[in-house]
Amino acid sequence: MELLDGKKILGEIKLELSQKVQNYIQKGRRAPCLVAVLVGDDGASQTYVASKERNSIECGFTSRALRFDASMTEDALLLEIEKLNADPEVDGFIVQSPLPKHISAQRVFDAINPEKDVDGFNTINSGRLMKGMNSFVPATPLGIVELLKRYNIDTQGKHCVVIGRSDIVGRPMSILMSLPSQFGNATVTLCHSKTKDLKQFTLQADIIIAALGKPEFLTGDMVKDGAVVVDVGITRIDDNTKKSGFRLSGDVKFDEVAPKCSFITPVPGGVGLMTIASLLQNTMKAYEAKNNL
Ligand code: NAP
Repeated sequence: MELLDGKKILGEIKLELSQKVQNYIQKGRRAPCLVAVLVGDDGASQTYVASKERNSIECGFTSRALRFDASMTEDALLLEIEKLNADPEVDGFIVQSPLPKHISAQRVFDAINPEKDVDGFNTINSGRLMKGMNSFVPATPLGIVELLKRYNIDTQGKHCVVIGRSDIVGRPMSILMSLPSQFGNATVTLCHSKTKDLKQFTLQADIIIAALGKPEFLTGDMVKDGAVVVDVGITRIDDNTKKSGFRLSGDVKFDEVAPKCSFITPVPGGVGLMTIASLLQNTMKAYEAKNNL
């Protein structure tokens, strides 16, 4: 069994991006700029935004977070988005989920200029992805494909079972894996809460991508020997022994599943870090497209 090490790959990608940034700056250009918009005070969202900001700056990007109170109206948020769309210094921006209940996340995502939509949540980018066209792909599924690439994991003709069909993870993941491309061309089964006898599918899978948000859902008896297992889940579990008061749990029962796998991602240290890596890559892509580089 080999660990798919998100920390190591994030480090490699940051190095590649910072070399590009230095190169562009030497040629007299400004650095790429990523902005994160955060509404409310959700603890996990604050951690994610701080981490995205820190990693961007470490690559030499300009980065800032705009923080707003949870009482902000949808119209006020849409106005901020218009400003970011119009700002020539901003290459890409994200609106961190979850948003307060009184704000429609899809209306907000659809207000983002598709060329600055580095999270890939805008309907135009979703449609372009579905058609196999050049698009901004949501960072988590894109990061998973990048991880498979960097470990040279063959996906051609393999049976990939994705568990979870959300707009931001499961469904785009299933599309990426089925695209006619070098790290696609898989035969994909997309499972969800209405799937009957899920285990019969996972037992046939060469690659399992667990993205359902149920701690330790995938157990050893659900996985065949030699499978590649990617754990997307991140759930905070109360834990008084930790300084933070919680620990993170994935969707995979790691101790049982890992010995059966050829490759597996840890939680933390796997997909979460690849999500950041892909967001940085998407920002570079937006910057280069805007500047015809
Ligand atoms: P979500 O929107 O809640 O979607 C969960 C999906 O799982 C749904 O499609 C649901 O089916 C399915 N599901 C729930 N229970 C199931 C069961 N017992 N059997 C089969 N399918 C089941 O979640 P999400 O946003 O995709 O996130 C999933 C997990 O990934 C969460 O833990 C989240 O924190 C984590 N996440 C991690 C990253 C990262 O960077 N590592 C990024 C995003 C999300 P239905 O559609 O039928 O309801």
